[in-house]
Amino acid sequence: MGSDLTHVKSTPIPTHDEDSRSRSPSAALLSFNTDPSASPTPSSSPSHKPSTTVIFISLLLTTCVALSAAFAFAFLFFSNSPKSAPVYESSSLEYKARTLRKLDHPVVLLVSSDGFRFGYQFKAPTPNIRRLIANGTEAEEGLIPVFPTLTFPNHYSIVTGLYPAYHGIVDNHFVDPHTGESFTMRSHEPKWWLGEPLWETVANHGLKAATYFWPGSEVIKGSWTCPDKLCMQYNGSVPFEQRVDSVLNYFDMPSSEIPVFMTLYFEDPDHQGHQVGPDDREITEAVARIDKMIGRLIEGLEKKGVFEDVTIILVGDHGMVGTCDKKLIYLSDLAPWIEIPNDWVQSLSPLLAIRPPSGVDPVNVVEKMNEGLKSGKVENGKNLRVYLKEELPSRLHYAASDRIAPIVGLVEEGFKVEQTRTKQRECGGAHGYDNAFFSMRTIFVGHGPRFERGRKVPSFENVHIYNLVTTILNIQGAPNNGSVSFPKSVLLPAA
Ligand SMILES: [Zn+2]
Repeated sequence: MGSDLTHVKSTPIPTHDEDSRSRSPSAALLSFNTDPSASPTPSSSPSHKPSTTVIFISLLLTTCVALSAAFAFAFLFFSNSPKSAPVYESSSLEYKARTLRKLDHPVVLLVSSDGFRFGYQFKAPTPNIRRLIANGTEAEEGLIPVFPTLTFPNHYSIVTGLYPAYHGIVDNHFVDPHTGESFTMRSHEPKWWLGEPLWETVANHGLKAATYFWPGSEVIKGSWTCPDKLCMQYNGSVPFEQRVDSVLNYFDMPSSEIPVFMTLYFEDPDHQGHQVGPDDREITEAVARIDKMIGRLIEGLEKKGVFEDVTIILVGDHGMVGTCDKKLIYLSDLAPWIEIPNDWVQSLSPLLAIRPPSGVDPVNVVEKMNEGLKSGKVENGKNLRVYLKEELPSRLHYAASDRIAPIVGLVEEGFKVEQTRTKQRECGGAHGYDNAFFSMRTIFVGHGPRFERGRKVPSFENVHIYNLVTTILNIQGAPNNGSVSFPKSVLLPAA
């Protein structure tokens, strides 16, 4: 999977700084209206002479631009002086990773912005995220989350390279059918958290990792001890600025002691997305704020002279879609076919997970439910389809664990399942749907010595990120669901 990624080269995009330097002259060239004599707009009196002048000036300018571009390229090709190294290097000149200048080992900083739906980067001016994109490698149509498109399953897939069925965090909340114990987002016992997360892999190699929040990072497991100064206990009230500054502080350590792998987590814009849906002004503001944090990070790394050495991987865990009260499906409406008691329902929406008690045949439950849903007599019934987990589309990889309930329902984009009718009316946002929906996609941007500048790659699933990180760190990773050849298709060869 992903091994057939084609290498898509894009037109080089200048950095934010270069962009603003060149903006004023080109803007002037384009604004014909500032010179009334040369105005080509129909409102001005049509005269032959001015339009000839416009064509002549345009030709002259085109020649100038072409000539300066030619000189610029010649300069890039023939200049070897490090002093005059351009801020932006054309991707066509890069065939190998850039060598580290200050650090004595590669460092990967994995940053997550929760619920950062793909496309949010166009909602607000995001100069800092754009700078990473322009000088790094981007999944052009977004990063594909794993199913279910929920926070805990996805964050843990990103750091283990495993689908939820294999890493054990099959939902944000679930029950272990063997022990009857419940998993919640506060469960830190290692028995829940299967697989080998990146911080553990790093520790296995005698290297240091630092986690500023990430689901699973506080779990003491294998050689990962969650050390006091490097492993933060989750506290959602810590200001984002403080999180960024703490990560920056690691770079003040002696070079050999700087952790090789770090995580940084922000709850936004997921938080706002649930309350108001993906299209509200609050989202725009939250996105702008995340961009500011990325700017704070870049600026801090630049001050320490390590920005070009550090690999920043910016991701989200899933997207967001608007939900509203007209798009509801009530389980109680299925009563003429089958009663679904509350205590059979492990999770309601958008991931419907049903575990009937022993003695009740799941096959029969699925049949009766689908009969009702297809009857045309259940409101919005056609927007929910119920499966035995083994019969779910195999692309979802959501069957191979006893923790996954035997019956799983897939809801159409933006629909919600509720137990019974209530008078409550609400509109907001949700995620957890089929990962094939574009609205569930999030972002992937890689910036650093092994990421080509200005490169776009096709969308890929987040289980490939684990191998990407171990390859950059040059360490042997644990077996996982990601493709072994994937890093080769995305990264520049080692220097
Ligand atoms: Zn959420």
